Amino acid sequence: MSHFMIIGAGECGARAAFALRENGFEGDITLVGDEPITPYERPPLSKAGLKGSDQPKFIVERERYDEEGIRLILGAGARDLDTRGNRVTLTDGRSLSYDKLLLATGAIARPFPGVAGGAGRIRSLRNHADALAFGELLREGSHIAIVGGGFIGLELAATARKAGADVTVIEGLPRVLKRGVPEEIAEVITERHRAEGVDIRCEVSISSLEETAEKATVRLASGGTVEADLVIVGIGALPNTDLAERAGLVIENGIAVDEYLRTSVPDVFAAGDCCSFPMPLYGGRRMRLESWRNAQVQGVLAAANMLGEHEPVSAVPWFWSDQYDMTLQIAGLADGATTTLRRDVGEGAFLLFHLDEAGRLLAASGIGPGNAVARDIRLSEMLIAARARPDPQALVASDVKLKSLLAA
Ligand SMILES: Cc1cc2nc3c(=O)[nH]c(=O)nc-3n(C[C@H](O)[C@H](O)[C@H](O)COP(=O)(O)OP(=O)(O)OC[C@H]3O[C@@H](n4cnc5c(N)ncnc54)[C@H](O)[C@@H]3O)c2cc1C
Repeated sequence: MSHFMIIGAGECGARAAFALRENGFEGDITLVGDEPITPYERPPLSKAGLKGSDQPKFIVERERYDEEGIRLILGAGARDLDTRGNRVTLTDGRSLSYDKLLLATGAIARPFPGVAGGAGRIRSLRNHADALAFGELLREGSHIAIVGGGFIGLELAATARKAGADVTVIEGLPRVLKRGVPEEIAEVITERHRAEGVDIRCEVSISSLEETAEKATVRLASGGTVEADLVIVGIGALPNTDLAERAGLVIENGIAVDEYLRTSVPDVFAAGDCCSFPMPLYGGRRMRLESWRNAQVQGVLAAANMLGEHEPVSAVPWFWSDQYDMTLQIAGLADGATTTLRRDVGEGAFLLFHLDEAGRLLAASGIGPGNAVARDIRLSEMLIAARARPDPQALVASDVKLKSLLAA
């Protein structure tokens, strides 16, 4: 009987395992994860302050793996991959052969230079254990310093403020969310954080991070210091390519795959945060996404292609972030846009449409309370997928329904 193995039991790996069954695969499936718990959702980790006994939100309940005949090996990583012999050796010494393999090893938090990070008062936030450590220090009057004004840092800032902690965000660039978020939206977010009492400092360089048993200190290049009970380093993520690199797979800002998610060696696929892929929708440009929906969609796509389908990557990139009662959503990729148009949608919510020189809609971003922009972003996604060139006048007119542009 065929044996399909998946390394990495996160969003992508777990979805792929179930998708194999949904597609009728009757062979053996093994899902290997180095974390000791049933695969869980990462987005809630930065949006809610977890307490000691809180369980993560599982992607799929534990018993469903047994029901579907998915063998789950947890708490043991894949140490070596022999792509000639189709064999994986685990950190506990077990050696397993496979017919097809999916690498879904995700990403790791980018470490601050010179700081090992980990269990003390200087941490990043990538997994459930990190979220518990963060939650433990969340209380009235505790001080959290966040290095990096990216999505995770700002979500944590909102969570910490809601719990009554004092929060300082230190960003090296002139503004927060410099990567991928339009300035107009970043300004709304910054203002809201400041109104909530977060001390956001931009264009500030850090010379070192230090910790003792009692406190952590951020030393600034200007000579000042920020002292905190906990420093969270949120300066981005790096694709987890160790295993693939040692096995000799081609790496290019992640494990390089083609549009069918095939790596450079036969029978081995890669998907989710760990891989870079060419995107036909954007002229075949190679990209790597760190987004929940991409991990899901690629997990399902990889499963289909492992079973012999020949389906290219086609989904429009989509990302969301929740901070306080605001939701930010982004569909598509705005690089290459020459024009930005704004549409107000009420309740302080607005959308920005990013078009290229030829008038093609490349991306749409929006922010507002709750679900205020969700529907319009969904319609924008469809316009982006259709490579539409919507009438700019209609895009900015809030009384013109985006659905009508889709029909046009
Ligand atoms: C705190 C946080 C908040 C987020 N919020 C949002 C959000 O609001 N919106 C959004 O769109 N996205 C969000 N994301 C991003 C989203 O969660 C990721 O894009 C998604 O989890 C990627 O899934 P993945 O399966 O590719 O990788 P991961 O979720 O990283 O899973 C990979 C798994 O593989 C394991 N692994 C690695 N190497 C090995 C090995 N050799 N052997 C065995 N196991 C291994 C890892 O330990 C991990 O468990 C957030 C991420 C984080 C960390």
